[in-house]
Amino acid sequence: MMTGQTLEQKLIAKAETAHQLTKMEIVHLLQAVGAEDDLAKAADRVRQIFVGDGVHLRGLIEFSNICRQDCMYCGLRRDNHKIERYRLTADEIVRLAQKAKGYGYQTVVLQSGEDLYFTAERLAEIIRRIKSMDLAVTLSVGERSFDEYKLWREAGADRYLLRIETTDQALYESLDPGMSYENRVRCLMDLRALGYEVGTGTLVGLPGQSVTSIAEDILFYQQLDADMVGIGPLIPNPDTPLGKADKGDFHLTRRMVSLLRLLLPEANIPATTAMETMVPRGRELILASGANVVMPNVTEGDSRRKYALYPGKICVADTPAQCRSCMGGRIKAMGRYVASDKGFRHHRQVQQERS
Ligand code: SAH
Ligand code: SF4
Repeated sequence: MMTGQTLEQKLIAKAETAHQLTKMEIVHLLQAVGAEDDLAKAADRVRQIFVGDGVHLRGLIEFSNICRQDCMYCGLRRDNHKIERYRLTADEIVRLAQKAKGYGYQTVVLQSGEDLYFTAERLAEIIRRIKSMDLAVTLSVGERSFDEYKLWREAGADRYLLRIETTDQALYESLDPGMSYENRVRCLMDLRALGYEVGTGTLVGLPGQSVTSIAEDILFYQQLDADMVGIGPLIPNPDTPLGKADKGDFHLTRRMVSLLRLLLPEANIPATTAMETMVPRGRELILASGANVVMPNVTEGDSRRKYALYPGKICVADTPAQCRSCMGGRIKAMGRYVASDKGFRHHRQVQQERS
């Protein structure tokens, strides 16, 4: 170690070379107000070495805002009677995927509330139709059984996003009434066993969430060997019980993104929409702090507005074509490029060990 380094700089250097920190060390850096630029620089170097300069764009199709769950933070929760509900037809979803392909996206993310109209077989048929267009398919439709996940995997689904939201079990169960932490973890394990690329993540700034529990989230992602980790700050939605909660801390979220890159160097890490809802150009800042994925919205027209997880969602009036060219330009302006492959996770450490 060089002399004259602060404890924070020493911990960042350790994370950059060893990709391991103890829980207490992670807590220290999560709390290190003002260290975000140093963390970001280290994370950006690790990002460059492990996943390169390519930014992967995933076209997000928000195909239904109908949800059987009642998460306290989310505008799609079933008890929110203020939201206008919608559900796209199978043909509409496939048409949006076709358009996404036309814009040059290699992956579509099918996201919705937990809408049981989409039975396993109905969604499997949609997956088959989209897979025939040579697109990677990511699903993000919540908790289902092993057999349902299996059917979708066999239909060709490549990846699955299911945030754990928080690894604090008591907090999880108080904010997601009727849902069990154990079942959330079971879903992630099933997805892993079925060979999906597994994406998960944290909702940062839940009332009562401790920094220690956020450090435990990061250790959980390491243990799970998550292929993708997407995090975002809580944006209080006035039509939910958490409407008057404080919003999540942008800087803490940014420190967490950088720590994720340092500690899970190969993971795909998105610069999420919620970050940009909070800070203009937030996604560029996060791309420069360790992230390598952006999920531009492909949903069209009114559905875009109605998929209101939280208020102030950016670009609701834009068309998918505008989103594509806007993000492409912004990525080039950063000296990065839009990756032209499907963006599966690189197993660099394993490859190095084998060679
Ligand atoms: N129903 C699926 C997918 C849609 S919700 C699921 O729950 O997995 C996608 C994500 O939106 C959730 O994981 C949650 O972390 C995020 N979200 C919901 N409400 C939010 C809010 N008010 N602020 C920020 N993110 C929110
Ligand atoms: Fe439904 Fe997902 Fe929102 Fe929970 S977070 S209410 S499961 S859409």
